[in-house]
Amino acid sequence: MGKRICVYCASSNRIASHYFEAAEAFARLAVVGGYSLVCGGSWRGLMGALVEATLACGGEIEGVIPKFMCSAEWQDKRIRNLTVVESMQERKTLLMKDVAAVVALPGGPGTLEELSEVISLKRLGFFSPPIIIYNHQGFYNKLIDFFEWLRRENMLSPNQPNAWVVAHTVDEIIPAIEAAPMWRSDLNSHL
Ligand code: AMP
Repeated sequence: MGKRICVYCASSNRIASHYFEAAEAFARLAVVGGYSLVCGGSWRGLMGALVEATLACGGEIEGVIPKFMCSAEWQDKRIRNLTVVESMQERKTLLMKDVAAVVALPGGPGTLEELSEVISLKRLGFFSPPIIIYNHQGFYNKLIDFFEWLRRENMLSPNQPNAWVVAHTVDEIIPAIEAAPMWRSDLNSHL
């Protein structure tokens, strides 16, 4: 199996054009880096931009989408490898299966939920690949500050400083994946 990156990102179409440009730039860099992508499989929001840009430069993109979203015609019909699942929970499990990394692009509550779940699973030893938060134009500054606050309040262990990495420009994402230290899961270190 080739190297696959799972991407979490916005489903909204009403966001500024620079978000779409950032998602497209990321998709192109991932393809050049030899990666394929897997995402929520919709034509909506940044997922559609990923599909468009990945296929345009000869890359591969998979989608995992719940049945009810297909009933609403939200699936991106350009995706050849689209897996239809029963539930949102099943989708999240499949999205992160057998990937080389997870990347969170800007997004809303769904993206935050996916990111938060994968970080939690990593801390508990159920997921080990790199998790990259792309802080496009400071989009995630407040979340990054909040994570710092969680650390100061001892809600988050200082023993796991590398559970995720922040990339500040799109060019930093693939190098951040490749430079991420090996994750050693140790249940005691997350306490
Ligand atoms: P949000 O960030 O709230 O827009 O949610 C986007 C994330 O949640 C994506 O990474 C998807 O996996 C999932 N998701 C939520 N809403 C949709 C939708 N309408 N179509 C496809 N995926 C969605």
